[in-house]
Amino acid sequence: MSYELRGDYNAAVSHFPNHGPRPLIGLTGNFGDKGCELAEAYSSSIEAAGGIPVVIPASANATMLLSLLDRLDGIVLTGGADINPLFTGEEPVPALGNINAHRDRGELLLTQLAFDRQIPMLGICRGIQTLACALGGSVYQDLNTCYPHSGDLLKHSQNAARHVATHYVSFDEGSVLSRLFGERLAVNSFHHQALKETGEHLRVVARSSDGVVEAVESTEGKSILGVQWHPESFIMVGDRTMMPLFKWFVDEADSYRRALEAHRDILTLDTHVDTPMLFDEGVQFYLRNKQGRVDMHRMTEGHMDAVIMAAYLRQEERTPEGLDAATEKAERLLAGIQDMVATTRGAQMVFNPKDAFRTKAMGRKGVFMGIENGYALGRDIANVERFRRMGVVYLTLCHNGDNDICDSAVRSQREWGGLSPFGRDVVREMNRVGMMVDLSHASEDTFYDAIECSSMPVVCSHSSSRACCDHPRNLTDDQLRALAEADGVAQATFYPGFLRADGEATIDDAVRHIMHMIDVAGIDHVGIGSDFDGDGGVPGLDSEAEMLNLTRRLMAEGLNVGQLRKLWGGNFLHVMSRVQYCGLKIDN
Ligand SMILES: [Zn+2]
Ligand SMILES: [Zn+2]
Repeated sequence: MSYELRGDYNAAVSHFPNHGPRPLIGLTGNFGDKGCELAEAYSSSIEAAGGIPVVIPASANATMLLSLLDRLDGIVLTGGADINPLFTGEEPVPALGNINAHRDRGELLLTQLAFDRQIPMLGICRGIQTLACALGGSVYQDLNTCYPHSGDLLKHSQNAARHVATHYVSFDEGSVLSRLFGERLAVNSFHHQALKETGEHLRVVARSSDGVVEAVESTEGKSILGVQWHPESFIMVGDRTMMPLFKWFVDEADSYRRALEAHRDILTLDTHVDTPMLFDEGVQFYLRNKQGRVDMHRMTEGHMDAVIMAAYLRQEERTPEGLDAATEKAERLLAGIQDMVATTRGAQMVFNPKDAFRTKAMGRKGVFMGIENGYALGRDIANVERFRRMGVVYLTLCHNGDNDICDSAVRSQREWGGLSPFGRDVVREMNRVGMMVDLSHASEDTFYDAIECSSMPVVCSHSSSRACCDHPRNLTDDQLRALAEADGVAQATFYPGFLRADGEATIDDAVRHIMHMIDVAGIDHVGIGSDFDGDGGVPGLDSEAEMLNLTRRLMAEGLNVGQLRKLWGGNFLHVMSRVQYCGLKIDN
């Protein structure tokens, strides 16, 4: 070996550029009384798989952790001592091993915060237990004394060297691990605890022959995996058996990194959320509300820039009193959206595309206003201009059930056979004032009537594909082509019943719909309108925080950043620009 420092340096700078971006992987440090004693095998395995390993200090400082998580692309929860059972609400059993008071609190918090951000995580030994304890599961504090079938137990704490495999684990079909390793794998074993309950976000995918849980994966298709053995130990003796696992993990982190980079670069807009429906339940935009899917936290976690909040009106009686009440309710909801934003630091009302871009550039979140159901107009055409002057960017002509404007896609008596005479006036007036015509919820007749009547491109703020799921709320391929022909845009939505007939939809189905819509209408005419806080949301794509998962999946389907820019708001804002440019000049 040479000790020529100058030679090392010259070799390092001999090509330019000689490195591309690589995923940054945080390893939780095994801190204790004597400092950090983290086996080199962890960083060596990550490095060998193409990641950049860094050690995370033991700290429960939330501000530090959040800022750190903004910079990490993946986390390895490393091995070490037992977790203090008090954190899962249990008293210690006599055979509990050493606990590590330095690590527990910070690592459990880190895991929860990383989970909210969809950051890929790999748990190893203590790490699988950290995953479970942080995400609502629990452990047997000691296998020999707590496991119900302890008489049948294999030896889980081997005396053999660290890189020697001593028992088998069998993988469930369809798991990531079975894809990487086949049916079973011989592993090493250095633990006396094991998983008892996984919690709702994890599922067991591997067991040893005595039934002990050996691995878990995400129930929601996320990049989370925990193993009870020590895959890192093998690399130190040049054994690459476990490298597929590290390679998988680093690849997931790289896909996360690329999606994150795309979201930082492009403006991401969700064109239909129903958060005002939760106003009466006391949700606050600045809190990570349990019952909500759209708030500052989730938009920050999912790197989403803007949403269009709908003042939603259920279709009720069309009596004079009913119509007056509808108009009043719309006004109240619109005022509520503005109050909510005014009391939220970092959020801002936006009224046009320029506002949205400026707001993103300032690192803030933008909120547009829409109205879902033309019922809000009553029978007074002057209300169109009045709502437009309040800043409303689109009006959905109807909801479920016919109204004075048009027939609906569902619960329709086919009252008008499409747009009513008043509806035609409304569409023309919307064109005049610069409000987008939203045809989600409209019947097919209404849809074609409105496209013909409108001098401007129209939108469907939250509708998916009928060819992928036969529901009258979805758009047929002919409708998608007609929208594209008219320069309009269809925004795919995530209500499970619109994604799959049996309602058992996941993010897979959302991706399937979007790709089909792009195939039919073209990349310039498709976007995303989640319907979160309405009925939208499926496993893997259940809140604004999880939108990065969608970007990752669409990138895997082959969409590039330019295409994602169009899909994630570019197309919709393009229509908004055109419609507003030809409308009233409004100062907001
Ligand atoms: Zn809605
Ligand atoms: Zn709706």
